[in-house]
Amino acid sequence: MKRETIAIHVGYEGDPTTKAVAVPIYQTVAFEFDSAEHGAALFNLEVKGNIYTRIGNPTNTVLEKRVAALEGGVEALTVSSGMAAIEYSLSNIVETGTNIVSTPQLYGATYTLLAHIFPTRGVTTHFAKSDSPQDVEALIDHNTRAVYCESVGNPAGNVADVEGLARVAHKHGVPLIVDNTVATPILLRPIEYGADVVVHSMTKFMGGHGTSIGGIIVDGGKFPWREHAERFHMLNRPEIAYHGVVYVDHYGDAAFVARCRTVCQRNTGATLSPFNGFLFLQGIETMALRVERHVENARKVAEFLRAHPKVDWVNYAGFPDSPLYPMAQKYLGANRCSLLTFGVKGGFDAGTKCFNALQLFKRMVNMGDAKSLACHPASTTHRQLTPDEQHKVGVTPEMLRLSVGIEHIDDILDDLSQALDATTR
Ligand SMILES: *Cc1c(COP(=O)(O)O)cnc(C)c1O
Repeated sequence: MKRETIAIHVGYEGDPTTKAVAVPIYQTVAFEFDSAEHGAALFNLEVKGNIYTRIGNPTNTVLEKRVAALEGGVEALTVSSGMAAIEYSLSNIVETGTNIVSTPQLYGATYTLLAHIFPTRGVTTHFAKSDSPQDVEALIDHNTRAVYCESVGNPAGNVADVEGLARVAHKHGVPLIVDNTVATPILLRPIEYGADVVVHSMTKFMGGHGTSIGGIIVDGGKFPWREHAERFHMLNRPEIAYHGVVYVDHYGDAAFVARCRTVCQRNTGATLSPFNGFLFLQGIETMALRVERHVENARKVAEFLRAHPKVDWVNYAGFPDSPLYPMAQKYLGANRCSLLTFGVKGGFDAGTKCFNALQLFKRMVNMGDAKSLACHPASTTHRQLTPDEQHKVGVTPEMLRLSVGIEHIDDILDDLSQALDATTR
């Protein structure tokens, strides 16, 4: 099936009792056991079934199957936010004394997690000089447990060389974990290029309407955990936190995500509410259509801004003279993401004036909503970072980031036009 079809059908075979066509919201904490023996069999992992919504819920199960299929992975785990997905995907395999190697330009909270939170647990992150595979490889050592990147960086818009990064990670026996939030599986499927684990903030394009926070971890199912049994002993030895199960034996290809569920989520509890799971299912049904319009509108906005006399620069991977162009061409084909950044002439002050004058664009720190959104990273999402750290993750003081929505393009351009006029008023 093609992605458009997967997004509407995969993972739901109909409800046998009610014949409901839309996926029901199983708004329940727990599931009844037939008998003591049935309960015991469930706990012993001898039979499959639902026990308690913190470890699994049938509404979320449909969403997990659907997104796993969209990404070309084997299984997935829904969690309560994109940040929880990122945290679990890493804490699943790191431990004190090990390290993560990351590309330098990351989402603000991810940067903070890697640069400041993991180190308090004895896990360091080495940030590469650039996102090139050579610079990343130079930092991988015997204690590295994962290479981490964003397929398309938020907010920098840089497109990572996923294939090259997967190659250097695998050469050193570590998995590549990719945050695919900005690209969505409609534009790019990192697993096809060798990524081992894909994480998402479903909050953005998947939900698509700015109503719910959620995340998902997709297991590509190909990393040879057994071949690196010492390094990834948590997947290869009996797990004391879960009935002594050996993940690679019991769960096969889906060992990684099974441990995320039964150790990380079961014991720290960042569970997605089934109601939000339902909203994400609604969003995903129209994701391909929305992304198509987002992409088309963003291209027109980029061209408009570039030609505008009050605009200093536009960072958009669709311009052939952009340094982002070659990687974008390889990984996104003719499409580009609807996230773009630009600087107004007149620096910080003019940028702020333009930002404050926007009427249709909402001033907020989200993206991927049907509505057009604008954000000033230096004063919001990346505010906690020092100027030097901001520079490293690709944020400048005058930069505005747009998430171009799916309104009529004329109204979007009219708003930008009047806001740019306001900068010199
Ligand atoms: C928003 C975002 C996150 C965090 O997701 P939440 O759902 O807000 O926790 C992580 N990575 C990227 C690229 C994002 O855009």
